[in-house]
Amino acid sequence: MDYREIREEIVSYSKQMYSEKLVTATSGNISVRLPDRQNAFAITPSSENYMSLTEERIVIVTIDGEILSAAPGARPSSEWRLHAELYRAKKEVNAVVHTHSPYATAFAVIREKIPLILIEMKVFLNGEVPLSPYAPNGTQEVAENVSRSIGEHGACLMENHGVVCVGKDLKSAYIRAAYTEDAARVCYMAKTMGKPVTIL
Ligand code: 13P
Ligand code: ZN
Repeated sequence: MDYREIREEIVSYSKQMYSEKLVTATSGNISVRLPDRQNAFAITPSSENYMSLTEERIVIVTIDGEILSAAPGARPSSEWRLHAELYRAKKEVNAVVHTHSPYATAFAVIREKIPLILIEMKVFLNGEVPLSPYAPNGTQEVAENVSRSIGEHGACLMENHGVVCVGKDLKSAYIRAAYTEDAARVCYMAKTMGKPVTIL
């Protein structure tokens, strides 16, 4: 099985993520769990240009890091442990989107969660966007921190780094990444005007 549809979906959302400015240059990554193999997933290659990304460059890896398929020179995203830990811990999660979207990352840099201020956050994000403690990128420590902090929420900020969103499918994880950035931008604007009021 070459997982053609999954590869195409990842490439398409990767280009959308880049063109919608949720990432800069080669930052961020996207993965989808394999439908016929719970312990493996397809993920974007590390440090490759999104605009020239093709299906063949998508890497297939197990949650223990064994590479099942990779084009010559393609390495799995350096954050594969983060994706693997979320698949390991959350059986209902089938896709992970990691961005460095600027407004949300600004909250991660001042180490503040994004409070529940918009109705879309209730519908799409399961409430506020929590914060996970800093650890160096690509480590098992950062992966476990996110897995613990995200809880039942759809999105989580990574201190001094970026955003991670999960979903039952890639469409849902991507929508969460877009709404996380929107909530952060609105919250930032509201903070310049006064004190944001939260909802329940
Ligand atoms: P990769 O290019 O290895 O996926 O890394 C990007 C990133 O966001 C690291 O945190
Ligand atoms: Zn990152």
